[in-house]
Amino acid sequence: MSTKYIFVTGGVASSLGKGIICASLGRLLVAQGLRVTIQKLDPYINVDPGTMNPYEHGEVYVTDDGAETDLDLGHYERFLDIQTSQSNNVTTGRIYYDVINKERQGAYLGKTVQVIPHVTDEIQSHVLKLGNSGDYDVVIVEIGGTVGDIESLPYIEAVRQLKYNVGREHTLSIHLTLVPYLAAAGELKTKPTQHSVKTLSESGLQPDILVCRSEHPLDDSLKSKVARFCNVDLEDVIASLDAKSIYEVPLLMQKEGLDKRVIQKLKLKTKDCNLDNWIGFVEAVCEPSGSIEIALVGKYVEHHDSYKSIVEAFIHAGAVNDCKVNIRWVQSDDLTKESVSGSLEGVSGVLVAPGFGGRGIEGKLCAVEYARTNDVPFFGICLGMQCAVIEYARNVCGWEDANSTEFNEDSEYPIIDIMHDQKNIENMGGTMRLGKYACSVKKETNAYAAYGSELVYERHRHRYEVNNNLRYKLVENGMVLAGMNPERDLVEIVEIEEHPWFVGVQFHPELKSTVSNPQPLFVDFVKASLKFGKSSDLYTPLKTGTAKIEK
Ligand code: GLN
Repeated sequence: MSTKYIFVTGGVASSLGKGIICASLGRLLVAQGLRVTIQKLDPYINVDPGTMNPYEHGEVYVTDDGAETDLDLGHYERFLDIQTSQSNNVTTGRIYYDVINKERQGAYLGKTVQVIPHVTDEIQSHVLKLGNSGDYDVVIVEIGGTVGDIESLPYIEAVRQLKYNVGREHTLSIHLTLVPYLAAAGELKTKPTQHSVKTLSESGLQPDILVCRSEHPLDDSLKSKVARFCNVDLEDVIASLDAKSIYEVPLLMQKEGLDKRVIQKLKLKTKDCNLDNWIGFVEAVCEPSGSIEIALVGKYVEHHDSYKSIVEAFIHAGAVNDCKVNIRWVQSDDLTKESVSGSLEGVSGVLVAPGFGGRGIEGKLCAVEYARTNDVPFFGICLGMQCAVIEYARNVCGWEDANSTEFNEDSEYPIIDIMHDQKNIENMGGTMRLGKYACSVKKETNAYAAYGSELVYERHRHRYEVNNNLRYKLVENGMVLAGMNPERDLVEIVEIEEHPWFVGVQFHPELKSTVSNPQPLFVDFVKASLKFGKSSDLYTPLKTGTAKIEK
C-alpha cells in the first residue's frame, strides 16, 4: 500500500484546535492498525521555535533527536504514542535556509531562484521525506496558520502540486473551520465557512472533508447547507463540538464518522477499531474519585501554554492515581520568605518549573525551601532542579553565596555552572544540550522506585549543570545523586533521603508522558502528593458520576 497523505488546513480563525483534530484522527487510524505520523508545517520565518519567547509561542517541545519544535508535536506524541523527530516540524525559515544554502552551493545551476518552483519544491520534498521512509501508511500534514494568510500561500500551492505528483487518490484534504453562533440572531452562521472554502478553492485546493468547530450541535439542514455551498457530500461535514477534555475528541470524531470517511476515501485497509484503553483513560480523566491541588511555580504562569507538557503529564498521572490534579499557578516573581507559606498553603505538592534567566529565581528558592522543610512532595524540573540544588547548598550546606553562574558569574560557590562545551557558543539557535541522553538510576531511590529500571533515557534542553567540582558538598550534607549520565558523569537526578518525596531532574520528563505510557516520575509525584493530601486533609473527594463514555 503506498503512503497516503492527509493535509489539514484551518480557516476563519486561529486556535480552533487543528493540532488536536490531527492527533485525534491519527489516534483513530492507529487504533485500526495503521502506521501513522503527523507533520507540522509552520509558516513563520524562525528556523525553529527554539529562540522564541514562551509568551510568544508557548512551550518549545524537544524530540529525542534534539529538535526544538512546535508544541503540537507534543499532542501528536501523547495521542499516538509515537516518537517524532526534526522531520516532523518544518518552518518557512528552515525551507528558505535550505533553499538559500543550495543556491550558495550552485545547486540550481544558474537559474533564478523563486518561490515557485524552488520553495514549493523544497516544501514538497520535506513532506515526501516522511512518506518515502516506508515507515508509515498515512502521513497527516498539519498546515499552520489560517487560510488566506500571505505566509500560508506557498504551502497551499505545494499541497496543490503534491496532489498531482503523488496521485490524487493517495491524498485527502481536510479543512477545519468555525461555525459561530450569533446570539442576537439566535442562529449558527455558515457564511464564514463558505468564504474560507472559497479562499482555499481560489488557491486550487478543494477540501474533501470539512470539520466545523461549533459551540452548538449542527443539525442536518445546516450541514446540508454547508455541503451544498462548499461542494462536499453531507457525510463529509463533520461537527466538532467543545469537549470536556481534549482526550475526548477522538471519541467525538469517531461518533461523527471522521475516520470512517477518511478510510473510505483513501481506501485504507484497516483492522477492527480498538479504543478500549483510550475509553478507560477518558473515563478516568472525566470521572476521578477526588482531587488535590499542586502548585506550579514558574515565571510564565500567566501563559499556561508555556508549560503545556507538564499540564498534560499531570492529566496522565492523575488518571493513573484516580485523582484530578488541579494546578495552582504560582508566579515566582511574587514569592518572598514572608509570602511563600501563604501562597503555597493548602497544596499537596510543589513543582518548580523549567526556565531561563534570573527573574523569579529567589521566589523559586523560597518555594523549594517551603517544600523541603514542610515535607511537602517536591518535583524540580531542569531549572527547578537547579534551584533545589542552590537552595540546598545555601541553607543546608551553609554556602550562603551559592548560585548558578547563569544568574551570578561571580558567585563564590557556583554550584550550578555552564557546561564546559557550552562556554564558547555564541549562536542561540539549536546549541543547547538537546534531546535524548542516558541516565543511570541509583537503586533505593524514589527515582528507581518510579522507573523500576537502572537505565533510562530522557530529553534535555539546557546549558547549565551541577558543578562536578563542588558536588561533594551536597553529598556530604545528605543530598543523594540519584541519577547520573554515564558518559559524562553529569548529575541528572537529585533527591533528599529523609524527605518523603523530593526529586529534582535535570531533564524534562514531561516531554515523554503519553496516554499509553504516563511518565513514571509524574505518576509517583502525584501518588506522593495524594498521600500527603489525604494525611493533611487537603484531598477533596468528588462524587463519581454515572455518565460513562458510550462505546
Ligand atoms: N536555564 C537553565 C539552563 O540553561 C535551565 C533550562 C531549563 O529549565 N530548560 O541550564
